[in-house]
Amino acid sequence: MKEGIHPKYGPARVICVCGNTFETGSTKKELKVEICSKCHPFFTGSQRTVETRGRADRFRKKYGLK
Ligand SMILES: [Zn+2]
Repeated sequence: MKEGIHPKYGPARVICVCGNTFETGSTKKELKVEICSKCHPFFTGSQRTVETRGRADRFRKKYGLK
C-alpha cells in the first residue's frame, strides 16, 4: 500500500449557482457547480436545453447522484 499519493477524501460543501448547497464526498472542501438536484430538469420536471442536460449528466456522474 502506498500512502500520501491521493488527496484526502472527505465531506465537501457543494455550492450551486441557483443558491442551493449540499454536502457530498470529494477531495476538495468546496465545490461550485452550475446545476444541482434542485435545479436539475430531471428533478424539477422542466425541460431545458440539451446542453444543460448534458452538463447535468456529467454532474451526476461526477458526484455519484442517482
Ligand atoms: Zn442548483
